[in-house]
Amino acid sequence: MNEQVANPTEETLDPCDWDGLQGLAHQVIDDAIAHIRDVRDRPVWREMPEQVRKAFASPTPERPQPLPDVYRELQELLMPYPMGNIHPRFWMWFMGAGSFSGALAEFIAAVDGSNLGGGNNAAALMDLQVVDWLKQMTGFPESAGGTLVSGGSMANIIGLTAARTAMAGIDVRAEGVAAMPQQLRYYGSEQAHSCHQKAVELLGLGNRALRRVPTGPDFRMDVSALQDMIAEDRKAGHRPACVIATAGTVNTGAIDDLPEIGALCRKEGLWFHVDGCIGALAAIAPENGRLVRGLETADSMALDPHKWLHVPFEAGCALVRDANTHRNTFAVHPEYLEEKPRGIAAGEYLHDYNLQTSRAFRALKIWLTLKEHGTEKFGRLIDQNIAQAHYLSGLIERAPNLQMMAPTTLNIVCFRFDPGALQEAELRELNTEIMLRMQETGIAAVSDTSVAGHHCLRVAICNHRTKREDLDLLVQEVSRVGAVLTCGEGMGAATTD
Ligand SMILES: *Cc1c(COP(=O)(O)O)cnc(C)c1O
Repeated sequence: MNEQVANPTEETLDPCDWDGLQGLAHQVIDDAIAHIRDVRDRPVWREMPEQVRKAFASPTPERPQPLPDVYRELQELLMPYPMGNIHPRFWMWFMGAGSFSGALAEFIAAVDGSNLGGGNNAAALMDLQVVDWLKQMTGFPESAGGTLVSGGSMANIIGLTAARTAMAGIDVRAEGVAAMPQQLRYYGSEQAHSCHQKAVELLGLGNRALRRVPTGPDFRMDVSALQDMIAEDRKAGHRPACVIATAGTVNTGAIDDLPEIGALCRKEGLWFHVDGCIGALAAIAPENGRLVRGLETADSMALDPHKWLHVPFEAGCALVRDANTHRNTFAVHPEYLEEKPRGIAAGEYLHDYNLQTSRAFRALKIWLTLKEHGTEKFGRLIDQNIAQAHYLSGLIERAPNLQMMAPTTLNIVCFRFDPGALQEAELRELNTEIMLRMQETGIAAVSDTSVAGHHCLRVAICNHRTKREDLDLLVQEVSRVGAVLTCGEGMGAATTD
């Protein structure tokens, strides 16, 4: 090392005091372990005081601050006020509950620092391996294409874009949708996730190109109605292109008839896409894997490791049975990204299967989590959540003023407090108030929705920390708060007390 070339005006982000940093880093780890270990002792959620809100309106920092001070600020402003989804009584939306190893993996991925656009490095191999594992877990062939993305919404966009490439009838990448000889039609049930609307809009097909197929009393797609719509669209000169089957709907957890829809797609020559963001991973569950049988025959599939694998956000995965179609949908080769026979840029670029160029090292948290626990444990945990949903449904059925609002297939339970003699609007107001009070007191987080036009509370149990006693407490509290709100006072009193 030539001391003379060192220029004292040259700066770096590295610290001068690595030993001091080590002390702080150890503190961060200790605090993190305590934070996760003691989550059950804290409320699910709490409202932020005004000074916390104000703190986040402070201007861009221009001058440096010691890292320990910045960390202390985080401890005060951030850590006491999370969304709550790592808590054992968070069942509000469908998302994972996190884990310490998942957090550690995020840290290690950032320390490695690789950009998963691709290239000849171990992180890229790990990325490919994780995609292969997800294929194996869902019964997809080894030869399929696949890519890790931010989440389920993006994974669905990847699948639906591959479907457009395959079904456009022209080179749609070169010519654009305006040149298509026929308008494409996609089909999803009226219970399909809202991301599909964004996807067809983004693909230039228009929201109207996504036909909403009615569902039956079980909230599964009515396949004979689907068949009629396909025939109707052909008659109108459109090109039926793709059916989006949902393996586990957000509202009720209903699973469309995958074998029947798959068979119809093959008969009619349509692309078969499965939105498996909720249910695809149930394929590894010994008791309930049968519920999603047929998923492995899809042309493309979206799944969401940041749900039932509990890895930190963001982690979704798109699989496309025909790897060539997948690649032909996204690959571009600008001169500054030419692959080389040797060195750092050797091998296939991962961004050729994806819309992103730079990509996060998402694979590590999935890899580490699967290595640590194994798929058998995750399968059991998925079964456990589904059993808990059925347990909760049983409690609700036996409770005097609670009413089930949809059948429980998977791990989602829809119900409401209904003391009788109230109108629909009053029930909506009452149940909304119950939901908000439980959030504000930090007892439990549930969401609400409407099924078949009826407002209800919705419990989605995607949580490895939930115990049956937590569900006992939920039923007890909903009944108690409901009784307090309705005891002889009517709803007018309920909202003003
Ligand atoms: C969660 C979910 C999505 C969206 O996934 P994100 O990871 O939130 O982007 C899509 N479809 C279904 C059925 C889902 O449950």
